[in-house]
Amino acid sequence: MEQHPHEPLARLSVALRSAGVRPDFPSPDRWELLLDPAVFRGWVEQRCAGHVGRVRIAGPLDRRLAVVERTDGRWVVADLSGQPHRSRAWPAWTREQLILEDPASWLSLAHLDERAVWRLSRPSALLAALYHPETFPLPRFPLGISTVARAARDTLLGTVALADMQLGLSLDGLVARIDGDRPDILGVSATFGQYDLLVELLESVYAQDDPPLVVAGGSLTLRVERVLLDRFPSLLVARAGGEATIGALLAHWHGDCGLDDVPGLGYAGAPRGGGLAVGRRRTAKPVTRDVTADVVPELDLLPATFDRHGVAQLETSRGCTSYCSFCPRDHKGSWVGAGTGRLPWLLGELSAVFERYPQVSRTLYLVDEEFLGRAPDATSRALELASLLHRAGFGWESSCRVDQVVDPDQSHGWHVERAEMWRALVARGLRRMLFGVESGVDSILDRFAKDTTGEQNLLAVRTLSALGVPTRFTYITFDPLMTLDELKATHAFQGRTDLLLAPQPDLSPAEVVRGVRDARFAAAAGTGQPFYQGISYLLVSMECLIGAAYTRRVQQAGLAGAVTPSMGRVEARYADWRIGVAASWAQRWVDRHFALDYTFKSLEKVLDGAPRRQVREARGVLKDASYTVLGDLITELDTRPLHRDPTAEAILDVRIWQRIENRLALLRGVLAAAVHDLLPVFGREHAALLVTEHRRWSAAGGWTLINAADACAS
Ligand code: SF4
Repeated sequence: MEQHPHEPLARLSVALRSAGVRPDFPSPDRWELLLDPAVFRGWVEQRCAGHVGRVRIAGPLDRRLAVVERTDGRWVVADLSGQPHRSRAWPAWTREQLILEDPASWLSLAHLDERAVWRLSRPSALLAALYHPETFPLPRFPLGISTVARAARDTLLGTVALADMQLGLSLDGLVARIDGDRPDILGVSATFGQYDLLVELLESVYAQDDPPLVVAGGSLTLRVERVLLDRFPSLLVARAGGEATIGALLAHWHGDCGLDDVPGLGYAGAPRGGGLAVGRRRTAKPVTRDVTADVVPELDLLPATFDRHGVAQLETSRGCTSYCSFCPRDHKGSWVGAGTGRLPWLLGELSAVFERYPQVSRTLYLVDEEFLGRAPDATSRALELASLLHRAGFGWESSCRVDQVVDPDQSHGWHVERAEMWRALVARGLRRMLFGVESGVDSILDRFAKDTTGEQNLLAVRTLSALGVPTRFTYITFDPLMTLDELKATHAFQGRTDLLLAPQPDLSPAEVVRGVRDARFAAAAGTGQPFYQGISYLLVSMECLIGAAYTRRVQQAGLAGAVTPSMGRVEARYADWRIGVAASWAQRWVDRHFALDYTFKSLEKVLDGAPRRQVREARGVLKDASYTVLGDLITELDTRPLHRDPTAEAILDVRIWQRIENRLALLRGVLAAAVHDLLPVFGREHAALLVTEHRRWSAAGGWTLINAADACAS
């Protein structure tokens, strides 16, 4: 037991020999073996049959444990990371049930009693992510269930498998898998727009004999907790990130604790039958946030995500520093930066997978709500993170608030320091940063509680573009409480050509900070490009999400309608009926193009260089058309009286419909040419995907809504 080979698979070979496998046994050669414990266990069981007894694989990827029974009844326990066993934070349950002979080594003989073998074996948990393929054609690495899986594996209790509908699994397929695998615990992650899938899944699962313990999480679930618990009284709802909840839930399955001890859990009555329903919703312990915790996912599903042309996602912080009125904050919490201790290791693991997919752009999408945060070390932390990513050979993207660039409460020196930081971040691999501008009109920004002004947004866009920071911006064009004057001001702001400036690499950060505040400088440095070309999705309408302050204002104004649990939102009428009609048509316009636009966006993510630029240009065609439609809408609704009457409404509806049909006819021709020009720059699979989506878009008729928007970007 003295050998210390360097690679996990080499260590596995050593461990298997210690367990009784003959010395000439070939070393495992499947690089992806370590990523999925079930595949790993199956491989060892099959290859070593007859030489070893039972096999269990436990622990997260960075501390994977192989636990192999010898024919003499003792066990070999190998920490494949090579770290000594005693450096692991062993869960309390192992104390008397798993006794290591040599805790100072990564490899030890051990005595396991049957209770330990049982705990290493059960419960079996299946964590599933839902997905509507027609809405989002290309997958994103399922970060939520992957970080929850790590927390579950950290407990060394049972087994955890992952299933993601993005990866070719239909809802029927998922139900069949649950029926076949009979997991003890089913975890489901559902986000906005997936209520129908969630309900269908829960109905199928609860119709089974002896259904599993089901826990649902994700941004949608929290918004519709009451509706779900009324309909599925046995359901458990994970209210926070899910990591703390799953660990305690596994312990609860073994009878170690009651549901009341499971953090962040909402539920109604007795969850597994047999008890009395209490008739009210319960919330057990609140989640205590561990501010130093690394947010590290398991990587079981990363190769399959790349197989389907998807992208890799990570988180370096959770929560947000702000309280925008349209953003329900309870599931997000205050901003907390994740620890970076394990990031170098994680980047190494990611690199190993990326190297198998040389056609995939080495870009990581950091899905933080607010990348920087407000801690005193925000700048140095961001630079350190960027350096780690850059040294590992990755480009990266994330989201951030505008006041991390321009803040009227801060000094000139602060702005210069920030300008230096932004340039340094670009030099360290920042590929693009998303800013939630949301409006350029002060009265709207006040209503949104963005804590920013139009002038601030203008200066931030100028600063970022002059510094050469690649950006995209989100913008809420319509909101139910807006006036026609505000809509006109919105249109004007989006069309301004003095915001997006040409990069000024020869100017110092201080000169840029000064220059952007000077109209003559802005005029001279302008690209002539309208601001809307930098906006991710144009013509977006406000979603009145359940629990948001804005939604309460809508309710107070008597404009609220039905609650739609599918989106976790409240329907809202517009204070100005004409804007309501325009917003409805704008949404139909957005929805008509959403899948195609999302395909462009997804292709942009997985490409580099000239092909990526050309995809952006194709998206620009859509943006030009959308902005023209906004102008058309304003022209039309300006001709109708503020006083609502059915005839005026019908006329407005028809006139907008005619205008939009005309715009669509023009767009068809321009887009067909753009797609035709793009195809030669793509590989076969990307070209096929674009052709399919373009055909689907061309063949679509009518104007329907797809309910696909998310809460907010930043
Ligand atoms: S909208 Fe973005 S910036 Fe505003 S509170 Fe929500 S996450 Fe934070």
